[in-house]
Amino acid sequence: MLTFALVGNQNSGKTTLFNQLTGSKQHVGNFPGVTVEKKQGAIRKSKEASVVDLPGIYSLSPYTAEEVVTRDFLIAEKPDGVINIVDATNIERNLYLSLQVMELEIPMVIALNMMDAVQQSGSYIDIEKLKEELGVPIVPISASKNEGIDYLITKAMEVATKKIRPKKLDFCEGSVHRAIHSVAHLIEDHAQAVGLPRRFAATRLVEGDVQIECALKLSDNEKDILNHIVTEMEQESQTDREAALADMRYAFIEAATENAVFKSSESKEHLRSIKIDNILTHKYFAIPIFLLIMALIFWLTFGVIGLWLSDVLNTGIDTFTAFVDQRLTAFGLSATIHSLIIDGVFAGVGSVLTFLPLIIVLFFFLSLLEDSGYMARVAFVMDKLLRKIGLSGRSFVPMLIGFGCSVPAIMATRTLPSARDRKMTILLTPFMSCSAKVPVYGIFAAAFFAENQALVVISLYILGMIVAIVTGLLMKKTVFKGNPVPFVLELPAYRMPSARTTLLHVWERAKDFIVRAFTIIFLASLVIWLLQSFDFRFNMVTDSSKSMLAAIGSVMAPIFKPLGFGTWQASTALITGFTAKEAVISTFQVLLGSNMTLHDLFTPLSALAFLCFTLLYMPCAAAFAATKREMGSYRQAVLVVGYQTGIAWVVAFIVYNVGKLIVGG
Ligand code: GDP
Ligand code: MG
Repeated sequence: MLTFALVGNQNSGKTTLFNQLTGSKQHVGNFPGVTVEKKQGAIRKSKEASVVDLPGIYSLSPYTAEEVVTRDFLIAEKPDGVINIVDATNIERNLYLSLQVMELEIPMVIALNMMDAVQQSGSYIDIEKLKEELGVPIVPISASKNEGIDYLITKAMEVATKKIRPKKLDFCEGSVHRAIHSVAHLIEDHAQAVGLPRRFAATRLVEGDVQIECALKLSDNEKDILNHIVTEMEQESQTDREAALADMRYAFIEAATENAVFKSSESKEHLRSIKIDNILTHKYFAIPIFLLIMALIFWLTFGVIGLWLSDVLNTGIDTFTAFVDQRLTAFGLSATIHSLIIDGVFAGVGSVLTFLPLIIVLFFFLSLLEDSGYMARVAFVMDKLLRKIGLSGRSFVPMLIGFGCSVPAIMATRTLPSARDRKMTILLTPFMSCSAKVPVYGIFAAAFFAENQALVVISLYILGMIVAIVTGLLMKKTVFKGNPVPFVLELPAYRMPSARTTLLHVWERAKDFIVRAFTIIFLASLVIWLLQSFDFRFNMVTDSSKSMLAAIGSVMAPIFKPLGFGTWQASTALITGFTAKEAVISTFQVLLGSNMTLHDLFTPLSALAFLCFTLLYMPCAAAFAATKREMGSYRQAVLVVGYQTGIAWVVAFIVYNVGKLIVGG
């Protein structure tokens, strides 16, 4: 069994290639920081090989979590081969990492990705020439178009089985050359003893890598010699050690690409990209434009297409339910079981399923925004804004993912370099409106704000963001003092979203949604039906206010009284919402039955307060588990969830009571 590591810069197409190689469906995103964990999969076309997708990195220094994950994997697990994916549209920058990977002396092949974009822009890359200059096999591919993948697999298998290692390790000249080679001789025995490639260890030492220095267990005398060599190099080259090595690498890359890479002077695409960015990341217009685009999407989703599709599906589900209902009656099934199926399962699962089209339409649009590269611009604009109020701009990526689902979003906080930024972001992410909250907004908006559905929904999305920002500020002043770690976000090129990626994104959300409907929601509906149909002595009740559920819900109800929805039904719905947020809706559907509507439980104002509470209160069980995992302890996770629920209560209280003052009563 051969193992290949997939190594490359962020946003170079690693995950796209991984999916092509393995046939899996990992999330691909046109902004950095999506892949945080390494993922392994078998290569489709050759049974005895597997490939590991590693987080995107720009160098092999141990400064960020991604770099450490990738580096540890390459050094400790010693894969049989490295597939180094290089973004051909940004080749110089990408080769910087390649040079460092070569030093590891693992058999490797360069997958030169995005060749379609290179061709389109009218640039030209002489692959043969470049191969010669770098001393590594190069395969031009287009991961998203599935071009060149087969040959890449063949080539990768070849280098791994024949152990073809990079031919060139010497990228250096002059003083740096002397320093690296002296150090290489000095530490040769240590490197061999701990199993580190000699040249890699030497370069890292000259660059000042403390981790490698510790790993090599150098004697004090050797450390002294090392320091002398480095000082000598710094004096001769008149720069510091890190800059000297960076200069060396860039000088080599420049020479290597000089006669191999021909760029069409200023590509049309690039000029267009700059023009678009002048508007979309404009100092004043950027945020209004973002809000306008979002408003358009919500209007299309909740006001036009999604709504229409949901209506169609709703009619379908109603017809199907009526059909089954009739059949069961004809069959003469016991009234209890009949009610369980129709009023419990069908009502609960059906009520959630009707929102599938809404989810599909919404995530279709969001995926377009993400894949075209627009979301990265938003992150860039938000970065500046967030920085002003002392939050890390990097936190914005998990927050964006949070619009889909909090669980991967909370996991994505691992990319943040400091524990302070990480914890703060975990706390904020669940305030984003995840896809499971959409049905709740949908039902309430349709029932109480039919005229302004899109407006109500977008307000909730914005409220979530505002609460997150205010929380950030609050924490900065109290618990998490200090400053965010600076971060540079690179703007990816604008791209035509690919149909495949878009479908993948939509499918990802739709599948989650359907699975939850038939598992968690199914079970929750069943349990809710049971609890509301029987009293504590297991007699069936005709009036559900005498049921077990009513008794349980009533205990909680007083807490919600000041928020305007102190009914046992509302409390019960919120409790089941902990299993999954859609359960709020399925619970209402089961509880209301056929002779009550939401209007019997809510006024428009208390409905609004209820929506605010649902948006902000503790996330679902899966997100809680993720919080616990990333925070490291139950105590902290409980504190986080407690804070979120507290904020939810306060905001709902303010909305309800201020609203009452305005509309009177
Ligand atoms: P990762 O961050 O390295 O995992 O990169 P992703 O796989 O998430 O891809 C980043 C972006 O590049 C996505 O928008 C992809 O659709 C796009 N992409 C990937 N491969 C290609 C390609 O061969 N050609 C073009 N034009 N775009 C690509
Ligand atoms: Mg990725």
